[in-house]
Amino acid sequence: MNNKQTWTANKAREFYNIPVWSEGYFDVNAQGHVVTCLDNNQAIDLVSVKKMVVERGLSLPVLVRFPQILQARIKQIGDAFTQASTQQKYTSGHTILYPIKVNQQRTVVENILDNPHYPVGLEVGSKTELLAAFGFLDRHHGLLVCNGYKDRAYIRLALNAQRMGLKVFIVIENLSELDIIQQESNELNVHPLLGVRVRLNSIAAGNWQNSGGRNAKFGLNSHDLLKFIQRLRELNWQSRLKMMHFHMGSQISRLEDFSLGLSEAMHIYGEIYAHGFEIDFLDVGGGLAVDYAAKNDMGYFSKTYCVEDYAQAVIAKVGDFCHQKELPLPHIFTENGRALTAHHAMLITNVIEFERDQAIDFQRENITRWHADLKNLAQIILDEDFFDKTAITKKLGVFNMRACELFNMGELDLQKRAETDQFLQYIYAALSSQEADDVAHEHRPHGKCYCNFSIFQSMPDIWGLDQVFPILPIDNLLNEPNIDARLHDLTCDSDGQISSYASQGGTANVLRLFETEDSKDLLLGFFLLGAYQEVLGDIHNLFGDTHTINVEIDDNNQIILSEIEMGDCAHELLATVHISEQQVIDRCNDNLGQAKVTDYVRDDIILEIQNALYSYTYLDSADRKSHKIKGK
Ligand code: PLP
Repeated sequence: MNNKQTWTANKAREFYNIPVWSEGYFDVNAQGHVVTCLDNNQAIDLVSVKKMVVERGLSLPVLVRFPQILQARIKQIGDAFTQASTQQKYTSGHTILYPIKVNQQRTVVENILDNPHYPVGLEVGSKTELLAAFGFLDRHHGLLVCNGYKDRAYIRLALNAQRMGLKVFIVIENLSELDIIQQESNELNVHPLLGVRVRLNSIAAGNWQNSGGRNAKFGLNSHDLLKFIQRLRELNWQSRLKMMHFHMGSQISRLEDFSLGLSEAMHIYGEIYAHGFEIDFLDVGGGLAVDYAAKNDMGYFSKTYCVEDYAQAVIAKVGDFCHQKELPLPHIFTENGRALTAHHAMLITNVIEFERDQAIDFQRENITRWHADLKNLAQIILDEDFFDKTAITKKLGVFNMRACELFNMGELDLQKRAETDQFLQYIYAALSSQEADDVAHEHRPHGKCYCNFSIFQSMPDIWGLDQVFPILPIDNLLNEPNIDARLHDLTCDSDGQISSYASQGGTANVLRLFETEDSKDLLLGFFLLGAYQEVLGDIHNLFGDTHTINVEIDDNNQIILSEIEMGDCAHELLATVHISEQQVIDRCNDNLGQAKVTDYVRDDIILEIQNALYSYTYLDSADRKSHKIKGK
């Protein structure tokens, strides 16, 4: 029976853990393509998207955004709070704030604010983010929370936002901000709404735990909070403090950690009340996690709860505390950025080369000609019980070390070195053909898959945090995966490879995929990239922004492409390191003048360089020369 008949879309779905990480937004269709699933059973075939993108003249890589997923996420979070509030008779309501640091791209922010389900406010953490917010909010539903350290200019901008009619909370992160707010609001004749960020002692385990706990960077500790209260009294500003805020950190894997922090926060809330302040709003920050590793566990890149559990926990904790202490219920703000945006964006790219392990060509009689040490070790290894993989792997390590020593001492020539390498490969292959276990898996022969993208630009958290993202072919999923591959990017950096993949409830150091006849047919999808990756991405090796595109489906099942943003071209990258296009052309002209080439040759070369300056920074199709993506 051929592979096509035994492997199904369902097996592919399970193999790549799609139901776990995708939260229902991605699936495999009957053709073996990955599809994006939207409400009302509509699906967008990613292979068709790739075709349409190429027809529009874009080459890969392309970052694809699905605005309808963003809207669905807002609906899911909003509905979860509505339902929890109704069930628990929580009457003071909830509003989603979008922390724009997570992804400030215009189209993302506009899609979030224009969603038809729930009004959403913005949270900003710097002066420039505040100016960005000015580009979006209108006075009718312009809710703005200003976090982050603030100078006088930031504070004046925030006060001016209030003069424009926006509802602005200026959150005190640090005591010195209060006096500046007081001076400037007097001068501008504005009555500011203040929030205070409190620093909790509770910590949520994870990569971002420094946002919480005693050593947190932001927020007032108990001592400073008392001083702040005192200062508000001195200013007779008790009525200005209307909001309390805390943020425990991003990607909180255990809801129990978050609930513990919220309990502590509620006691602080109670204390502020006891000091005579009436807080109407409680901002519980972000932290709602995404299951990147598809493990459904407490690992840093996973989670053990869903949006609905989170909403129930927030409403229950706040409601119960207020009922017990007979305090009014605050209106709740949440600032979940990752959970809102991660699913909506993914990268499609192509494999440029698949370097397979060479065919194993090991002849047993070679051993007789080797150095005595290697001969003995090889014989011991061949006599071993192949089911004791730990023992045999240790011996292979010793063999490898001794072979290296002998080569470095000049006692093993290149021919014998090739033979010993083949021997190692032969044994590892024999081991992995037994029942796979961790030891064998570690050494299972695998190919190197060179892909047309930069990890540093498109998935910087792989490099910075060893983060795991769901990665899989978007095509050929009706074929049983038959080869292990390690993905490498285009950068000349040994860190430019992916060494950890979500795999069958664990992680693996290779990605198992189906080897097509021509590796260039392999299309890969990198998922859950909508949060933080775009904005943290950098220009290592001068690979720039990729092309981006919004993809939606209409009521007639037509795929609509919009907001096509061409990626960076070479001269834009050069400008970021202060090398002008003119400098490049002038220097080339000088060199060509000295090289005494004909005018015809000079013009030809300069034209090609000019085209290259206006072309994509990623690899183009092999059958064309420099291809301009932007005009001049
Ligand atoms: N609010 C504040 C103050 C933050 O610093 C952050 C990011 O860490 C967020 C909200 C968003 O967190 P997340 O994306 O984990 O929801």
